Amino acid sequence: MTKPVIQLKSITKYYDLGKTIAHVLKGITMDIFPGEYVMLFGASGSGKSTLMNIIAGLENVSSGKIYVRGTDLSKLNHDEVAQYHRQKIGFVFQSFNLIRSLSVVDNVALPQMAAGIPKARRLKRAMALLEEVGLTRFAHYLPTELSGGQQQRVAIARALVNNPWIILADEPTGNLDSESANDIMDLIKQLNERGKRTIILITHNPDYIFFPHRVFYVKDGLVTKTIINRAKYAYAEMGPQQKTFDLDALFSKHPDMSLHERQSYELANNFYETFKLEALSRGRLERLAHSIQDFLDDKKTELELADVLDKPFKDGGVGLRKQLAKDIAKKTALKKQEFILYAVKENKPVLDLNIEALKAETDGQITENQQSPELPKETTELKSETKQIQN
Ligand code: ADP
Ligand code: MG
Repeated sequence: MTKPVIQLKSITKYYDLGKTIAHVLKGITMDIFPGEYVMLFGASGSGKSTLMNIIAGLENVSSGKIYVRGTDLSKLNHDEVAQYHRQKIGFVFQSFNLIRSLSVVDNVALPQMAAGIPKARRLKRAMALLEEVGLTRFAHYLPTELSGGQQQRVAIARALVNNPWIILADEPTGNLDSESANDIMDLIKQLNERGKRTIILITHNPDYIFFPHRVFYVKDGLVTKTIINRAKYAYAEMGPQQKTFDLDALFSKHPDMSLHERQSYELANNFYETFKLEALSRGRLERLAHSIQDFLDDKKTELELADVLDKPFKDGGVGLRKQLAKDIAKKTALKKQEFILYAVKENKPVLDLNIEALKAETDGQITENQQSPELPKETTELKSETKQIQN
């Protein structure tokens, strides 16, 4: 089974500005798989570049963990991180960042110098990549003799030269006219589809949200939603090798899943992290989620939930230690309260609960307007919505 190439676990990042603290990332969790094309989409200032710099090994996290092909980046020393950045990451910038005094082919070949590759081989590799991006005949031009779109192609060839694990592209079309921009987006798509390269692309242009497999909406340092381009997404099947539930995949596969069931999977993932449930098998985690759902559905009391969590697996339980079972049941009960309060505040239906009683408690703040709970939307519905965050 495929393992993620990048795993981000509850990443936060803040800058201490003396009098104030800037909380730039507020807890970002995501897995990115080899061969995947993902997009970080959000308004300027939302934290996208910071997140990308963290993935690239250019910035430290304030808390949380980042694993690259299973290696905890925080365990690497300074030189190892630098090497990771140089060899495993291909970076494409908005402003191309080419060296003006070097020819196109020398620009592409440059990153291999640090890797100690002999000159003839460097040039051969650079020429092969220029062919891939369609610029063979400009190899001996200077960058300034090329159009913006062509310069970005050179930069992309350069990013590929060490055969990196991931290509990171931060607003790669930001400095281009729309025709060149489309051209670059097509090239990046090809690199992913034909070259099977893993790509993380930042943009705030809503026209591009159909290109990748997944779009992570970033807002104020959080991923506020994830959109799966189902036409392309073969990765939904990758869930089971992860111990936690792949909520994106699950929710998009079962769009009519009840609110409580979705909440129960979210809570199970949550508890997996906070109570360090790594030792639990998939089957036990499934049963944990289902027991939580029974409790949310009012089919079990808190005590009964604690009981089933504690009961041996062979007897239909989850098989947790007694104290852990109690703690999880208690946390679940608190969460249930939160969900109810939240639903009341948000004016959403509280499934299977006594709406009349709640109405009385909240001075009739609940109206008749009970929308169905929000479900993952199809990308086609998103365009108008995403226009709003264009800057
Ligand atoms: P985006 O790429 O989404 O436009 P950034 O990641 O560049 O956003 O920045 C997110 C926020 O973090 C911004 O408000 C920015 O001012 C702040 N920020 C970024 N780097 C620093 C820094 N070194 N010190 C203080 N604040 C920073
Ligand atoms: Mg940015």
